[in-house]
Amino acid sequence: MNLTFALCGNPNVGKTSLFNRLTHSSQHVGNWHGVTVGKAEKRINFDGDQIDMIDLPGLYSLSVYSYEEGIARDEILASKSDLIISVCEASNLSRNLYLTLQLLELNIPVIVVVNMIDELDKRGFALDAKKLGERLHVPVLMTSAKYKFDTSELIRAGKQYLINYDNEKVKLPYLNKLPLRQIEEIIGDNIKDSGFDPRYACIKTLENDDFVIDKLNLSSEQKSRIKALGDNQALVAKCRYEYIDRVTDGVIVKNKKRRKSSDIVDGLDKIMLNKYLALPIFLLIMSGIFWVTFGFIGSFLTDCLENGINYLSEAVNDILLTAAFPEWSRALICNGILQGVGGVFAFLPQIMIMFFFLALLEDSGYISRVAFMTDGLFRKIGLSGRAVFTMIMGLGCSATAVMTARGLEDEMMRKKTVILTPFMSCSARLPVYTAIAAAFFTSGNVPLIFGLYILGATMVILLAAIMQKTPLKSGEASFVMEMPKYRFPTATRIIQILASNAKNFIVKVGTIVFAFNVIVWILGNFSLTSGYVMMGSGESIMERFGSFIAPVFAPLGFGNWKAVTALISGLVAKEVVISTIMSLGGMEIFPDPLAAISFMVYTLLYVPCIATLSAVRKEAGTKWMIFGLILQLSTAYMITLGVRAVILAFNGGVLLGISALTGIALILISIVYLTDLVFKKKKCICCSGECEGCK
Ligand code: GDP
Ligand code: MG
Repeated sequence: MNLTFALCGNPNVGKTSLFNRLTHSSQHVGNWHGVTVGKAEKRINFDGDQIDMIDLPGLYSLSVYSYEEGIARDEILASKSDLIISVCEASNLSRNLYLTLQLLELNIPVIVVVNMIDELDKRGFALDAKKLGERLHVPVLMTSAKYKFDTSELIRAGKQYLINYDNEKVKLPYLNKLPLRQIEEIIGDNIKDSGFDPRYACIKTLENDDFVIDKLNLSSEQKSRIKALGDNQALVAKCRYEYIDRVTDGVIVKNKKRRKSSDIVDGLDKIMLNKYLALPIFLLIMSGIFWVTFGFIGSFLTDCLENGINYLSEAVNDILLTAAFPEWSRALICNGILQGVGGVFAFLPQIMIMFFFLALLEDSGYISRVAFMTDGLFRKIGLSGRAVFTMIMGLGCSATAVMTARGLEDEMMRKKTVILTPFMSCSARLPVYTAIAAAFFTSGNVPLIFGLYILGATMVILLAAIMQKTPLKSGEASFVMEMPKYRFPTATRIIQILASNAKNFIVKVGTIVFAFNVIVWILGNFSLTSGYVMMGSGESIMERFGSFIAPVFAPLGFGNWKAVTALISGLVAKEVVISTIMSLGGMEIFPDPLAAISFMVYTLLYVPCIATLSAVRKEAGTKWMIFGLILQLSTAYMITLGVRAVILAFNGGVLLGISALTGIALILISIVYLTDLVFKKKKCICCSGECEGCK
């Protein structure tokens, strides 16, 4: 017999580990979202049958947002596989079963594997798989895929289930509470043409799933009839969760044979998640990261590269001079390209240090802990712990961070997260701060830069809090926070992440930044009528255009064409801001330190790069992208004005002013945090509240 088994589940539950065990292969495993991007497939022989095993990318729900999730969904919908193995993580059972239910709704053969049983066991709990299986009416097996185990039991159970499979057997009682029949009356004919399973099509229509609704080709009359049935999206989620609560009730029990072990990891969480220590520890860790990135180590590495590039630039200049190249080409190559592009390139080490720490935090599970700790607090302002995860990833790259917001179930919350994430200072903005701070503030530039990062985060919190008081209020998130275990980050994994980020950065600098830099330089040094004009003559194309806009920025202190050009070109990629400044003649474009600070603040807050805008558009739609854009531009302008005012009020004491601002921001955050502590309900950290220990 020839069979196909597909492994399906949330990201990071151990699907690939299981796949490797089942097929004796070595696909990549990692404590990271999106490790499996395409599907992996391998044929094995079992008891004379040939079984094709498929490892699908992780997905949270069948209503998908990403390309990878789309791969998984399409594969499942095409019913190419005979059996779906729904992989769940023991410590996050409820949340994982949410996907399992959606698979069962499809009326196809599904068995459940609860993986990472070892972690449950370590904490002194056990799963009653038999009870869970009886309630769900499907086989439930337990595995620890990280460790060797006998895979034949699983394969045999799958085969046996297929032989006895009878799709009337799996009853999902909550479906009766949904107006499925009414929906089918409205869209019945469309379903026939679409080839979808009717039950699936009806449920997805209730859930307002774009993909299905698109494929169904509904008329506007049908759409309004559906709308008249009310908003059923939340109802569907509620029914599923209620059912999950029912089937999981009491299935995770204290393991009598084992005493709850208190190993190092448990101890670590006691400290890391301690009510009073959590925030100081978090700030300590972040300050440490900033100190290494921007302090002695980071700036030393950048200086080395910078010196190398200056040396190269001088050498090239000499060669071109002796070879009697035209004046403009020498200026282009040395000032335009080497100073500009090279100037950005010099920041590679610092950016890598930042990515290294982010990878470390993410891979070890600490970011998820931060997300967990802050969940309650952020829910008050209409975000959630998962949004915090996205925000912290935003310290790396806004565009990729925006995509991690997909896991957020409440739509309003997701969209807000998407447009607020760019306020977090991404790594491309780092060169702007470092270069400007180094030029203007010999001491105290680490606290200054730290202050900027905090300002970005504060804006997210304040704007979210404000939106929560408007029609943009988020709904109740039906999302159960996930709490991964601490895992030792593996060196190979970290190296992989660093290598791919370094590659991206080098490619970006070598292509987009390079090309744009040449364009900007040419526009800044040539005039339409008289060709090459020395910069500063007031005639070049960019100079004229920039000077036209410059007055807008005069109140901010940097109303000159070079600064304006740098900001506009920063739209392409934020790295271009600094390469433009460098190639247009360096830091003298800022008349005083105050203007330099204003420029940094403005760069932090104004529109993100094009890549981020398109990611925002993809995740939240065009309207939200435009809203975000306006929000960012106006916030940037007003906050920069505000910062200037504060610093001026301190009589020009720039560092004093910045420290005051940082202090204000920290006090604001602490107040919100402390109020939260007072009102916080006790939460279990080992599961999503389903274990007996919790009750
Ligand atoms: P996928 O995203 O679902 O494909 O998950 P992976 O197979 O890539 O695994 C994610 C992380 O969980 C990796 O760090 C694995 O080493 C770890 N892991 C997988 N299975 C188990 C298990 O049974 N027990 C434990 N403790 N860790 C596991
Ligand atoms: Mg995988």
